Amino acid sequence: MAKVYYLNCPKCEFRYYVGEPLVAIPNFPTQCPKCHHVFQLEESPTWTGPGTSGGLATDLRRKQS
Ligand SMILES: [Zn+2]
Repeated sequence: MAKVYYLNCPKCEFRYYVGEPLVAIPNFPTQCPKCHHVFQLEESPTWTGPGTSGGLATDLRRKQS
């Protein structure tokens, strides 16, 4: 069963989701379907990815800082 993760575009705040296979790719850029802004998953103000269970998102934040 495919999991999805919700994002908010940091530019226009449009809310959408991405499938788990995309989230699993390190530093994978996502594109807002509304304003077409391209950004990294962890730039979403409401990133609710796998970080809470200790995983990818935490790892990405470390690389970022
Ligand atoms: Zn947007």
